[in-house]
Amino acid sequence: MRILRFRYKGRVEYGVLDGDDVRGLTGDVFGEFEEGQRIARFEEVALLAPVRPEKIVAVGVNYRDHAEEMGAEIPDEPLIFLKPSTAVIGPGESIRYPHMASRVDYEGELGVVIGRETRHVSPAQAGDHILGYVCFNDVTARDLQKKDRQWTRGKGFDTFAPLGPWIETELDPQNLRLETFLNGELRQSSNTDNLIFDCYQLVGFVSQVMTLMPGDVIATGTPSGIGPMVVGDRVDVAIEGIGTLTNTVVNDE
Ligand code: MG
Repeated sequence: MRILRFRYKGRVEYGVLDGDDVRGLTGDVFGEFEEGQRIARFEEVALLAPVRPEKIVAVGVNYRDHAEEMGAEIPDEPLIFLKPSTAVIGPGESIRYPHMASRVDYEGELGVVIGRETRHVSPAQAGDHILGYVCFNDVTARDLQKKDRQWTRGKGFDTFAPLGPWIETELDPQNLRLETFLNGELRQSSNTDNLIFDCYQLVGFVSQVMTLMPGDVIATGTPSGIGPMVVGDRVDVAIEGIGTLTNTVVNDE
């Protein structure tokens, strides 16, 4: 099932993609829900970020190929950091290039959307706590990340967490092609089977540290091929079985 959040006729609501149609979603997206009546055709609705997380837990150096590219050692446990909820934007929205930064990179990633309150679960239990998966772009001011050493500023600017285009709920996350395109040119190409810590291990690990809430997102890390964007660029993160998340880069006004 593909769960959308969208605006239609002035209302913001959740729905389900059914071919070219959008159906309503009755019930609670983070509880019991089912597909409802047809609301509109897909092209009539304005897609929004499909989830509004309380927090985004992101993972550094979690692909073998990216570890090599960065000259980093393979970590023996996940390296996690937070991105603020205020960084979230949806499909088609603009990434604002901060005045403070001089190098801003895309990082295409698989995002895990948590379905219910999750604390102290094992990797074997984690699947029951996952609502679904999104494409995620862990936008990073690389110069500031290096300068600060702490990553809060470099990873935390408004618009630095594009996610979408919808939540795919029926997906095995263990073997998915992940590609990032800059202005239509392929820049990252990997597969989630290259993850050092997989989605279930990550949910289990993070849940030992902090309670994950419904709608929270875990950004699982980026493969090799990261690189800079400039104002006017378009970036697409495409994940097999989910779809493509597209955003453009504008000057921060
Ligand atoms: Mg990242």
